[in-house]
Order: sequence, then structure tokens, then C-alpha cells
Amino acid sequence: MAVAGAAQGPPIAQTQALVGLWAEWFRRADDDEIGEGLIKIREAGIDPLEAVFATGLRRFDKSGEYAADGALGIIPWVRTRCRLSGGAAAERVEIGRQLEQLPQTQKAFANGDLGYQHAAILARTAEHVGVAQVRKAETSLLKAAETMDPGQFTGVAKNFEHRVDAAGALAEANRAYERRYLHVGEPVDGLMRIDGVLTTECGAAFKTALDAMTPPPARDDTRTPGQRRHDALLELARRPAGSSVNGAGPRPHLIIRASVDTLAGTAGAPAGELEWGGAVPAETVRRFACDSALTRIIGKGELDAEVTRAVRTTPPATRRAVAERDRGCVAEGCGRPPQWTDAHHVKHWTQGGPTTMSNLILLCRPHHRMVHEGNWGLRRSNNGRWALVQPVAAQSRSA
Ligand SMILES: [Zn+2]
Ligand SMILES: [Zn+2]
Repeated sequence: MAVAGAAQGPPIAQTQALVGLWAEWFRRADDDEIGEGLIKIREAGIDPLEAVFATGLRRFDKSGEYAADGALGIIPWVRTRCRLSGGAAAERVEIGRQLEQLPQTQKAFANGDLGYQHAAILARTAEHVGVAQVRKAETSLLKAAETMDPGQFTGVAKNFEHRVDAAGALAEANRAYERRYLHVGEPVDGLMRIDGVLTTECGAAFKTALDAMTPPPARDDTRTPGQRRHDALLELARRPAGSSVNGAGPRPHLIIRASVDTLAGTAGAPAGELEWGGAVPAETVRRFACDSALTRIIGKGELDAEVTRAVRTTPPATRRAVAERDRGCVAEGCGRPPQWTDAHHVKHWTQGGPTTMSNLILLCRPHHRMVHEGNWGLRRSNNGRWALVQPVAAQSRSA
């Protein structure tokens, strides 16, 4: 129970009025003014408000008043009462604690000259190497923060930590290293979730490898950046070591169990079963089989000879000749180079189509999938290229 204190309660009505002003401004602003508005609402509003929040939090932290609410600490209190995640709560508490002893930083943050994330980085650095060290270099760190985005500034701060406390920086890096993990989930509804925390070394190597697996963009590529990264990961995982530019040679096989009926596309046939991946539709089995990516077929029976042929890789000479002829994905307007493609059987080998040049065309992975799972047709155009034809059902839907 406060005896003396603010004369009135917190200025809620004024804050709401301010929020209303901004909402109204964004409603009325011309398109070319919005960018400036977004910058200003952070500089003049959100960042300084975060600074005020951190200052209030510091006093509350010191007072221990949060215990009156039954909270075991300031962070649990912020988490539950201010509706923030544990990490976001801890970050704000740390800003409050460290910036008290970094007056220049506190001032820049409150004025809107320093963004929230930059303030958080400086607070973390002060926590790691001691606030006295940061204060000695405060001016130059703030100067760097002015011109850098938070990612670049993190680099500068880490470098600074290393200069003033190499042993501490190493210990910090070792602690971070212990937190690395990668989790690959079980298949659910045809999807698998992966999540993880990578060391910067692994992350950098992963990004470099993914970038190398991002094919040149095709015309009309409608995939989102996230979908493109996913597809790059698939390319990465399926690309054999030392593969040639024409895509010839063995590729890592996916182990799949499928019946001959599934492979032949017979109605009522069971789904295929991908090792680690659960059930996959018959058309997916047929696509894998199309470019000889199958390794295990149960109940071969009368298709024995074909199956045996198909589980072998397309002969490199054939593949090279097809690559020479098609020079990449044959879908009109695509043109992804041979190493991004599968050799598609125009007439599937389960229907007697031979694995020879006359029956093989190169399709990139997304286009190959459209032909199989998406039920798109292929039509040879005058220039010898192939055009994808919308599935009948989709045509009538979009008509
Ligand atoms: Zn195919
Ligand atoms: Zn393509």
C-alpha cells in the first residue's frame, strides 16, 4: 500500500490517446508516407517506451514488491503478469539492471537514438564482461550501434568481449556449444517438424550449403522463401558427394516399401511406406521409382524384371545423353540445369515405358512433383520443349 507516490494512477488514458493517434495516422497516410511512419513510431514511441519500461522494471526489481504477488522472482512475475516469454522477460530485466550503470546508453535508448535490440546487446555484453569494461568503450560502441543493424552489432559486441576477456568469451562460447541440438520429429499428417539450435560454425556451413543448393529462380516461381529453403534442403540431402553437372551417377536412395499394385497405380492399392517418413501416396512412390530412387519393393511378382532394372540407377551414359539433349528442366520457362533435375519417364516403366532416351525427359524436382502428385499433363510444343498442362479438375475449378 503506497502512502506517497504518483498523485494519480498511471497515465493510461493519455497512452491510449497516443495509440489512437498513431492508428488514425496509419489509416490516413498515403502509401509513400508509411515507411517514414514505421521508422518514427519506433524511434519516438516503441523504443523510448521500452527504455521507460526497463527503468520501471529496475525499481520494481530492487524493491522486491513482486513477491507480494506470490512470484518467486522478477522474471516469473514479468513472464506471467506482463505476458512475455521467459527469454523476453529476462532480456528486459537485464537491460534495466545494466543500463543503470551505463548512463550514455540509457540516455540514447530513452531518446530513441538506440534501438531496443541494440540496448539488449549492450546489456548482455555488460553482463558478460562487467559493466566497467563496457563503460570504458561506451562512446565507440554507441557510435557503432548507430550505423549497424542488430546482427552486425552483435558481431562488434562479441569481438569487443573477446578483446577485453578472451578467456570469458571462450567460456561463453563453450557454454553456447553445450546448448547445440537438432531434433527431427516423427511424421504427422505427411509432415515432419525439425527444430534445433546450431553452433555458428554449423549454421554458417549449413547456410552456405543451402545457398549452393538454391537453383536459379524459374519464371512464375510461386514458392515462398521458406518453401524454397525447404526444397534446397532436400536437394542438399539427396545430392550425392561429387556429383557431376549433368546429374549422372548414383544418388542416395530413399528406402521405401511399396507393393507392386501401389507402383502400378492400381486403384485401392495401399500407400507406400518411406523409411523414417511414414506413409506416402502412391503417386509419390511412382515419382521416386521414375528416377530410380527406390530400393525396396515388396511382392515383386510379375514386374520382377522391370523392378530389378529400375532399382538400378539410370545408366550414366543415358543420363548424360538426355542432359545433353534437354540441357535442363524441359518445362517451358523453367530451364533449371541438369543437376537440379530427375529423369522422368514419359510413359512410366510400370506401364512398359523403357528407360531409354526416347522415353526420358529432364524435370526439376518441383516440376516433376507437379506431373506426378499434382496430376499435371505434359504436352510437347513446336520448339521441342514441353509445356505443363493444368490438371482437368484444376482447369474446371479455375474456369
Ligand atoms: Zn516422373
Ligand atoms: Zn522445372
